[in-house]
Amino acid sequence: YPLRQRKPDWIRVKAPMGAAFNETKALMRRLNLATVCEEAACPNIGECWTKKHATVMILGDTCTRACAFCNVKTGMPRAVDLLEPQHVADAAAELGLEHIVITSVDRDDLKDGGASQFVKVIEALRTATPNTTIEILTPDFRNKADAAIEAIVAARPDVYNHNLETVPRLYPTIRPGARYYASLRLLEQVKRLDPSIFTKSGVMVGLGEQRMEVHQVMDDMRSAGIDFLTMGQYLQPTPKHAKVEAFVSPKEFEAYAAIARAKGFLLVAASPLTRSSYHAGDDFARMKAA
Ligand code: SF4
Ligand code: SF4
Repeated sequence: YPLRQRKPDWIRVKAPMGAAFNETKALMRRLNLATVCEEAACPNIGECWTKKHATVMILGDTCTRACAFCNVKTGMPRAVDLLEPQHVADAAAELGLEHIVITSVDRDDLKDGGASQFVKVIEALRTATPNTTIEILTPDFRNKADAAIEAIVAARPDVYNHNLETVPRLYPTIRPGARYYASLRLLEQVKRLDPSIFTKSGVMVGLGEQRMEVHQVMDDMRSAGIDFLTMGQYLQPTPKHAKVEAFVSPKEFEAYAAIARAKGFLLVAASPLTRSSYHAGDDFARMKAA
């Protein structure tokens, strides 16, 4: 990839503003909900919030890990908010969401890693908004993964997402608290426990990975039965975070997408501004209708 120091034109995004944007923000504040849109400094927030699409981040806004690419703050999180499941359901109802993406910080401090909160959120959503499809984006749950996955799969989300984030060679610097094969195994297990749940994963590019390494990750994902793939450009949230090694051109993303489709993914979203939850509902609905 050509190394570019300044953000290329294709990264420019709309500034967040407007009535719908402010309403989405006010709703999240009123219901005391954190969003990954804000905490991760997502470049799509202007577009998504204007359309009233937001990705709720449960279990607070403070993470027990410190990944080199992530803007979420690290520290000792607060106690779990027992009202959070109902507040997520209220938000989905008020926003009229057809599809909701729920993610969380890593809670290595909790006995179940936070799995029971995911289950409660899914249950609250099923009651309040039974027609909303539910996509969850979970942590790896470290050494509690088996029990956590079983509990969450039993609650039957429509899509189970867990991001591999980068190629295995870069894990020690980019995702030091996680293990590549443990993340792959998690998704494989979800599929084995309930093949009717769609599994999804994503990687960021521009962190110094080689093309062949990305192709290998795609093969690993397909071997683990992963259905959907997302790929986006890594952007450095602050100077303290990992550097951008390359800006991958839209053409390169198209080439990746073509290879991914040939490898058999049911859904592929690959573009500079693609994020796990970007257009997730529209893509999912289109895939189901096809
Ligand atoms: Fe939020 Fe996802 Fe949209 Fe980013 S892409 S603003 S995280 S919904
Ligand atoms: Fe960010 Fe997730 Fe890493 Fe926590 S575990 S620092 S939320 S990417």
